[in-house]
Parts: sequence; C-alpha cells; structure tokens
Amino acid sequence: MTTHSNQSNKHAIVIGGSIAGMLTARVLSNHFDRVTVIERDALNDGPEARKGQPQARHLHALLAGGLQTMTRYFPDLIHEFQRHGEAQGDLGEHIRWHIGSGYRQTVRTGLWSAIISRPFLEWQIRRRVEALRNVEVRSGGNVESLLADETRQRVTGVQVMWRKDGQREAMNADLVIDTSGRGSHTPKWLAALGYDAAPEGVVTCKITYATCLFSRQPNDPLGDKYVMVTPPASDTLKRAGAFPLEGDRWQVTLVGVHGEPMPIDGDAFMAFAKSLPTLDVYNIVANNEPLTDIMHHKFPSNLRRFYEKLTRFPTGYLVLGDAVCSFNPIFGQGMTSAAMQAHALDELLHEMGVERLDGLARRYFRSVAKVVDIPWKTAAREDFRYKDTTGDKQLGTDLLNAYSSALHRATVNDAVVCEAFMRVVNMVDSPAILFRPQILWRVLRSELHRKLRGRSQRSVETSQFTVDQPADTVR
Ligand SMILES: Cc1cc2nc3c(=O)[nH]c(=O)nc-3n(C[C@H](O)[C@H](O)[C@H](O)COP(=O)(O)OP(=O)(O)OC[C@H]3O[C@@H](n4cnc5c(N)ncnc54)[C@H](O)[C@@H]3O)c2cc1C
Repeated sequence: MTTHSNQSNKHAIVIGGSIAGMLTARVLSNHFDRVTVIERDALNDGPEARKGQPQARHLHALLAGGLQTMTRYFPDLIHEFQRHGEAQGDLGEHIRWHIGSGYRQTVRTGLWSAIISRPFLEWQIRRRVEALRNVEVRSGGNVESLLADETRQRVTGVQVMWRKDGQREAMNADLVIDTSGRGSHTPKWLAALGYDAAPEGVVTCKITYATCLFSRQPNDPLGDKYVMVTPPASDTLKRAGAFPLEGDRWQVTLVGVHGEPMPIDGDAFMAFAKSLPTLDVYNIVANNEPLTDIMHHKFPSNLRRFYEKLTRFPTGYLVLGDAVCSFNPIFGQGMTSAAMQAHALDELLHEMGVERLDGLARRYFRSVAKVVDIPWKTAAREDFRYKDTTGDKQLGTDLLNAYSSALHRATVNDAVVCEAFMRVVNMVDSPAILFRPQILWRVLRSELHRKLRGRSQRSVETSQFTVDQPADTVR
C-alpha cells in the first residue's frame, strides 16, 4: 500500500484534519508530490476532543471493516495500540450486547477490534500522516472559499484565513478535497461558482448522547468487554454503551432517541442506567468514580448529499467523509465509511493517475455512492422503527425491519446467525448474507421456537392458575 504511483509534481489540498481528512491525506500521498491538510482548529500532539469534532468526547466504536481498511494504510496501528496497553481481540467475543430479550451469543468471528478512544485513534493516525515526507498538516486555517479558473469548470485551490494573524492566503492545488464534516460548506461554495447543490436525503433520529468517563479497576467483573444495550424501539427510546478505554477508564454513553429526556446530573445518570433492561451499565456507573462532568451531544438526522446525481461538477474537486454522508451515530458507521471512501479514491487514482483529473469526480462519486449506500440504507431503515421519524421511507422498510427484528432475536440463541450479523454490522460482509437460505431458515426456526415456548409457557401458567392456585390468590 505504500507504492507511490505516478509521482507527478502535483499538489493536493485536504480541507479538514479529522479522521476523514487524515485518511484522505494518507491516500493522496501515494499519488501526489505534495499534500497539504488545512485544519481550522489548533492541533496539539496528543489525544484531544477539539471544537471542530465535539463528537470525539463520546463513545466511538471503530468497526472491523474500518480497522481493516485503516491498517492497510497504517500497518503498525494495532501494534501501537498494544504498546499503549489497549485491548484488542475478536469482536464477537469481546462484546456483551443486550438487546432487550437477552444477550447476543458470544461468537468467534475472526473480526478484530481495537478498544480505544476516538481522540486516541485520531491522534495516532495524525502522527503517522504528519510523518509522511510529502504531507504537511497546517492547523489554525479556516478555508473560506474555493478558487477556480476563469471558466469556473476547474477548482484551482482554496482561500484560507489564518486565525493567528487574520491573514488571508490563496493556495493553489491540482486537486482539493473537502473533508470538513457534516457542516461542509461545499453546497455554498459550489453555488458561488454557479453549480447546483446536490440533492439531499434527510432522515430524522433526534439523538442525544450523554457521556461520562469513569475509573475502571483492573479486576472489574466485566473485564475489557464492550457493553452495549440496545432494546427494541417498540419498548423504549433509551440505549446505552460502555467501553473500556486506555488509561483504565470506562466511557459510558447513554443515548436518548426522539427527544427522550437526558440526565444532567449524577443521580439522573444512574437512574437512566438502572432503567435499562440489564444492569451492566448501572453496575459500572454505581461502582466506579466519575472522572468528568456529563457531556451532551445532539444529533438531529441522518444526512446524505447525493453528489453522484449532479450532472455538472467542477474538475479538481471532491468531497469525502461526513461531508458526503453522516449517519445516526448509534450504528458506528462514520469512520469506517470514511476509510472505505478514501480507499475507493486510492483505487481510482491508481487506475486513472493524476495527470488529467477530468472525469475523476464522476467516477469517484459513483464509487462513493456504492460505499455509502448500505450504511445509509441500514441507518435510515432502522430509524423508521420510531413513529416520529421523518424522511424518505423506502418501499419495503417495515417488512425488512420485521425480518431484522426476528434476526436480532435469533442472535440470542443461534451462534451462526449471530456471526453473520456481526460480519454485516461491522461492514465486512454485505447484508445479502442475512438472506441466504441457511440464515433465513435459522431465523424462522428461532421464531417458531419462540412462539412454541411462549405458548407452552402460557399453558403452564394457565394450568398453574387452575390447578395449583386457589382462585382468590390469582386475582
Ligand atoms: C455523537 C457521535 C458519535 C459517533 N460515534 C461513531 C462511532 O461510534 N463510530 C464511527 O465510526 N463514527 C461515529 N461517529 C461519526 C464520526 O465521528 C465521523 O464519521 C468521523 O469523525 C469522520 O468525520 P469527518 O472527518 O468526515 O468529519 P469531522 O470529524 O466532523 O471533522 C471535520 C474537520 O474539519 C474541520 N473543518 C471544518 N470546517 C473547516 C474549514 N472551513 N476549514 C478548515 N477546517 C475545517 C473541523 O475542525 C474538523 O476537524 C459519531 C458521530 C457523532 C456525532
């Protein structure tokens, strides 16, 4: 992965220095002579949650598909995690995941995960990018607009305002990539050049995260398990997760959907944790010291910009990461999707070279649409389980959700179904595998058993009432 194809004395600029920006810079370093990343925030050499990525304070799972893609570009990443004492292991074995009706099966999947905080991950990636000989990361620069040639058909650079002295600088580049996140100004910048805005898809979820870090004892009964609690949407608007982090800490995030009131003090935090269908999270909260205040983050909707649908787009300009698609965070797909988009770009540049960038945008946005389609559809479909969700509801959503509910229930009893589910949820395999006859049959069988169990339980209860219990005690 470190081959430098077609070194070309060319310059690329990346707007935004978060996860997507750093992965993009790494990929571009394979193809361009010089790559400059421009980040608005000041960057320090250490793990940090900055103003520009406030979500970094909250629970972040790096899915196996994301870790696999990232380690193609940073093969020593996992060793670095090990050096810092972070745990890794088979995701299927490391997760303790309660779904309301019970815990999913523990399964060996061969899918690896790294148990680390989001700021630590971003810092480790950034350090590696900064060490590349042809990449420069410049912080404290706000990209204000795009530069274009007189025909306005080619983007030729960016205008940056440097925060330390307020100076403005015009920087030229052969390729500019916007990785400035969900709040990307690309629609506005393109409009200024006379281009249409990309059509947008919005599916609401109105999520609020409430996160607190806690101490973690070496002998914690949960060990280094990821704890997830995701009861059915029909039961409650509450969810939670707790991950063991570097530095002997638990990161506990409580999640409320569609306006569920969120805790603002310790007592309410504990009460929320206690109200979940398992006490795993409550036990962490009750038995460890809080290390921070409770931090909140509101997230209104899944948002996708369909750049692949535009008929006109300037040469020399692309968009990547959350700036293209930002998903309900509960599904943990954002960083993996960004990594896969960057990889798709790498493949295209290997194929097309960088001498002529005409036609790149069209092919790139088609590739990105393929990467984003599945996580987008998954998140949007799942969010339509809530009656208050609004947006473009695809045909067949309720049917698919009914099957997926049955599949979730089957993961509690059936290791084969659970393994298939884990591979899909980690973006390693396509959801199509969940419809293979072997899985379909197992899901149906599990439902049948559940119904029969329910019926025989009811008849036991009925016979107890009629035979063992005197009539007045039954009342
Ligand atoms: C609460 C929450 C929880 C999440 N949990 C997960 C999870 O568990 N797993 C997962 O994979 N993903 C998760 N995500 C998504 C994940 O955080 C993002 O997908 C990931 O950070 C990649 O985003 P990005 O780099 O595209 O944008 P961002 O992380 O938003 O970064 C954009 C960067 O661009 C900079 N910038 C913005 N404008 C300019 C400008 N004009 N000039 C220069 N710089 C600029 C910003 O300062 C920032 O550094 C979560 C998101 C949220 C909100």
